[in-house]
Amino acid sequence: MTTALASVVSRNPADPSDVLVSVPAAGAFTAVRAVEQARAAHPGWFAAGAAARSAALGTVAAAVEAAADELAALAVREVGKPLTEARAEVARTTAIWRYYAQASFEPNGAVHEQAAGGGLLLTRRRPHGVAGLITPWNFPFAIPTWKVAPALATGNTVVLKPAPEATACAQRLAEIVHRSVPSEVFTVLPGGPTEGAAVVSAADVVSFTGSTGVGRKVVRTATARGIPVQAEMGGLNAAIVLPDADIARAAAHIADAIAGYAGQKCTATSRVVAVGAALDPLRDALTEALRARPAGDPADPATVCGPVISRQARDRVLQARQGLPELVGAAVSAGTNGWYAAPALVEKVSPDHRLLNEEVFGPLAALLPAEDLGHAVRITNSVSYGLVTSVHTASLDAVLHGLDHLDTGMIRVNAPSTGVDFHLPFGGVKASSRGPREQGHEALAFYTSGRTYSLSP
Ligand code: NAD
Repeated sequence: MTTALASVVSRNPADPSDVLVSVPAAGAFTAVRAVEQARAAHPGWFAAGAAARSAALGTVAAAVEAAADELAALAVREVGKPLTEARAEVARTTAIWRYYAQASFEPNGAVHEQAAGGGLLLTRRRPHGVAGLITPWNFPFAIPTWKVAPALATGNTVVLKPAPEATACAQRLAEIVHRSVPSEVFTVLPGGPTEGAAVVSAADVVSFTGSTGVGRKVVRTATARGIPVQAEMGGLNAAIVLPDADIARAAAHIADAIAGYAGQKCTATSRVVAVGAALDPLRDALTEALRARPAGDPADPATVCGPVISRQARDRVLQARQGLPELVGAAVSAGTNGWYAAPALVEKVSPDHRLLNEEVFGPLAALLPAEDLGHAVRITNSVSYGLVTSVHTASLDAVLHGLDHLDTGMIRVNAPSTGVDFHLPFGGVKASSRGPREQGHEALAFYTSGRTYSLSP
């Protein structure tokens, strides 16, 4: 069952009376028709060749860069992203367009000699056709771009179904892209679950980023249709702190990963595992670091923790911390009518508590003691998710143990769990991801299928 949206409305989370978009949802019929139009446009876009596609993507990169201030301000207003992070996201978006403009020229096959007979064998990768791309609201420019750019670069046409909460950002990105890419080659559909499901039912390849529950449905449908699919989903990420770590530095990194963008990143830290004697100093340092990152106006460049995306999101965060002893963050920021939840660190959380089993997606983390590194690894691996872990230590042995035993797709050493390098594969294991990785060269492989040609003399 999917819930149909009659209209798509997006509001400023810092001031919900500020409505950015109010438009009718596209509907399932229009969504399927957009895929058909994109399919009709596919042979022309592929035949245009690598140089034309590269030039178009390069033009988009330059236009995104030129509009950087305006785009960052739009992300602040529509999805409550703190200005400093919004600027960084737009810079990353520019870099991704540029990277895939270059990647259009990457070799997409190899030449071998036949085992016998003197002929040649060629391998080559070709686009699938129409890429159906479904994205969340929390990275309103970078996540659509890291799907759209490799799909277009490899010769696919694209139908993008962005999250309703980020519709203005997606429409603005589309205006920029359409200066160099025809509208039937790249279409943005305003809508929600109905439009998303319709795209999944019609496209030739599907890439989804969003919550695990929705991602599993998308994977089921695409798999039943026999089309390639990838899904990047939720996280319940841990930071492990060993007693030999630089505790002040670890606390600053972990506070950024808890409070940054109000914890609304799939890579946010929501469990802090302190090993042995690290517990007491870490508790003090982290409490102080979180107090220095109060929830505040996202337009202020000094703000680390802005509002959460909606009233429901704020209620979910406040409910999740109810009844737990809190070290910091008991009060919601006052003096504003936005959807704010102050960063909070909680202790003495029982293993079956929701906070240790489900993604809450807010500025909230549990502090958990561990006897030793092995125990910390077991705690980290005990959840169904497996996106990223940060490990804070001065010991190479501990790092190597973590690399071998942590069951997460990414491990970051002496760094926040958040943060992504756009040119390398990104993704998790277990309930966090399905299918091939996003970004970098792996994305070029995902949006194409291999062929082998045998040429005899
Ligand atoms: P969501 O799952 O509610 O929605 C994601 C997208 O799916 C939206 O565009 C939505 O309209 C669409 N959708 C909803 N139901 C659908 C259906 N039945 N069929 C097809 N499409 C459907 O997620 P959200 O609230 O937009 O984003 C937050 C979630 O995204 C969090 O769980 C977060 O961890 C996750 N996320 C993961 C990554 C990652 O790379 N692992 C990155 C960012 C966000």
